[in-house]
Amino acid sequence: MYSWLKKYIRYMLFHPLACIFIVSGMVGRARRRAHSEKLITSIYFHNPSRTLFEKCILWLKKKGYTFISTDDLVEILEKRKTIPHLPLLITLDDAYHENIPNVFSVAEKHNVPITIFAPSGSIESGEYWWSYVLKGRKFSSPGFNEVEDYKKIPEGVRKAKVELLKKYVKVQREAMTVDELIKISKSPFVTIGSHTVNHPCTIHCSDEELDFEIGYSKTKLEKWLGKEVKYFAYPNGDFNNRDKIYLKKYNYKLAFTTVPGGINPADYNVFELQRNCIIPNGTFAENICRMVGIWQKFFLLFS
Ligand SMILES: [Zn+2]
Repeated sequence: MYSWLKKYIRYMLFHPLACIFIVSGMVGRARRRAHSEKLITSIYFHNPSRTLFEKCILWLKKKGYTFISTDDLVEILEKRKTIPHLPLLITLDDAYHENIPNVFSVAEKHNVPITIFAPSGSIESGEYWWSYVLKGRKFSSPGFNEVEDYKKIPEGVRKAKVELLKKYVKVQREAMTVDELIKISKSPFVTIGSHTVNHPCTIHCSDEELDFEIGYSKTKLEKWLGKEVKYFAYPNGDFNNRDKIYLKKYNYKLAFTTVPGGINPADYNVFELQRNCIIPNGTFAENICRMVGIWQKFFLLFS
């Protein structure tokens, strides 16, 4: 389907629904519940526009949220820090180059801490593997037209298929460079976490591949940044108990999933922290509902 048509249908269906959620007071109630239950709101982005990211920051400020860093989160969870009013954590996956003008500069302007999860291999090469899939559809093998198709196969097979596409397709740098990552990591508002080396679905990795993805990415990032990398985000949000063995082996303190929800300091798993996804193709009303978590809860009722 044409992308403009998809966008139109999405707007016609979802925007009125989001407006009903806001006008009926559901958003306000979700915020008050987070406050009374001392929950930490946790949101994440990939490659937002500057307009979307700044609109979210301004809305959250206006509603009285307190922005916390991942280091603050650890102190709160370990009860070394009291829970501030409406705490909120912002993370970003994949370390897109566009995050520098659209996110980093906005975070510095508004004194907002952010954590960026970087796949070290993409930082070096500049590329994300899914860009080859999206650009190289006519060269792909039968049954492998969509990015999702590559997320269901063993990691070795995925790599081989993408390597084949690289013979036919060229993509431009989309990830930050090593120098850019080092530069922004020096900001007091930025924490860099690991997002593996090659951005595989870790559940489809062999033990050796998983050890490399979780261990080598940490080693590489720490070498570049000259500081400890303590936090991890699962690519594609897929994880199982095997991941946790390697996360412990390499001394990660926290790992973030893509399971929607906030973080309850009274009941949490350090390697299964939840986050609400903010999307670029949703209206701002929808993203308000996403930030407070009611959007995801509503659709879970039908799944
Ligand atoms: Zn990712």
